[in-house]
Amino acid sequence: MQGSSLKTLKQVRMYSIPVSDPRVGELITWYLGTLQRAIDIIWENIEWKYRLPKIERRKRRQVVIISYKLKVPELPKDKSFKKKLRDELLSDCPYARHWVDAVIRTVYSIMESWRKRYLKGRARKVKPRVRRRFARCKISLMRVDYGEKKIRITVKPGEYIEVSWSGRWFTRRVEGWRVGEVVLKDDRVLIPFKSTRVIEVRDTVAWDSNELSLDGFSPRTGFIRVDLKPLQSMKITYERKKMIAQSKGLKDIYEKYAARERNRERDFVNKLASGLTRLFPNTIHVFEDLEKEKLVSKRKNPKSRRKRNARTPWINIQKKMSEKAVVVKVPPKNTSRTCPRCGYVAKTLVGRVFKCPKCGFELERQKLASINIYLKYLRMRGLPHSGDPEEAVKGELWAGVTPSGRSPVTWIPVKRDPEGHEAKGRGLNTEPNETQTP
Ligand SMILES: [Zn+2]
Repeated sequence: MQGSSLKTLKQVRMYSIPVSDPRVGELITWYLGTLQRAIDIIWENIEWKYRLPKIERRKRRQVVIISYKLKVPELPKDKSFKKKLRDELLSDCPYARHWVDAVIRTVYSIMESWRKRYLKGRARKVKPRVRRRFARCKISLMRVDYGEKKIRITVKPGEYIEVSWSGRWFTRRVEGWRVGEVVLKDDRVLIPFKSTRVIEVRDTVAWDSNELSLDGFSPRTGFIRVDLKPLQSMKITYERKKMIAQSKGLKDIYEKYAARERNRERDFVNKLASGLTRLFPNTIHVFEDLEKEKLVSKRKNPKSRRKRNARTPWINIQKKMSEKAVVVKVPPKNTSRTCPRCGYVAKTLVGRVFKCPKCGFELERQKLASINIYLKYLRMRGLPHSGDPEEAVKGELWAGVTPSGRSPVTWIPVKRDPEGHEAKGRGLNTEPNETQTP
């Protein structure tokens, strides 16, 4: 099995500090107006280029790179365009010049993300509009005093707004962390605190995301099942409430339920991610790359797996996890239909148990994907995996999150052998006394 290795863990935590300063609102109004103007200018200068279908030969196989003729937007990025854009925006800027540079950076990130979504068929050919009120700052507009825990933001040359995180509830949590670019909102400042630290990795858990559970496999622990039913039932409850509100035409009530649902979901995801990182310290968490999943052909992807994202916020769970632990992603292809022993890819999927037609290997289907994700990770890193998968998969750990009200996360780790008896004395230390930090 694996030894330990060192990994860099980059973490960002966002905290907000209330401000009440009319200058902030004015600045945001100018920022958004300028941002929209910059979007207009870039939009008019987009070049639409044809991209022709393309087929390549790879490893004695024809591979379709681009399947149909496509018109692709190219954003104007050359120096002379950027200079013109900057001069244009500076022409009536009452604020420090760096605010224009802040706008330009934000406009390119908005346009790039629109372009990406457009190429994936997820955005229409419509000019992006900024709706939320915010202004993203630049480091060059900020001076951070770590001793006093103060940030001074330049508004105009010689004119500043000051915010301090001294004595806040989160002050201790970000001790020694660096401050990133703040975002101004009408009534608050969002501050990203960043830290980079090296951690010693001793274990790997590969996670398969299902509708009702998060199924993991680790060579140390065996199989892990995290129950997601509380999240599901919460969502079903709110879906019903929203439906009733909608049928009665009560838009405000609908919005209220939607906001509550979002809050409770965020809360659940937070607790899940902190629980998992606490339960598996010094661990690499391997997930399937769900962004790439959409590119996998629908016919090859069984319906049950395509459906799983409908109600469970997988992308958010992965994001939260990668804020708290080392996360690696592997391509999602065929993980629910490959035999982990001989590599045979089964064509039809029936029944609760996977049975390999080639070598006879048997495993509950629920567990199959996680072990395949783990093997993919090993191959990706060029590591050999030893022996029979059956040898490694004897333990089983059950865990859950209680999302109710103010009560803390409750982990119910029960170790079982495959027959359902509790196994003793193996692996993890999951004593309840180490589960809570407020
Ligand atoms: Zn097999």
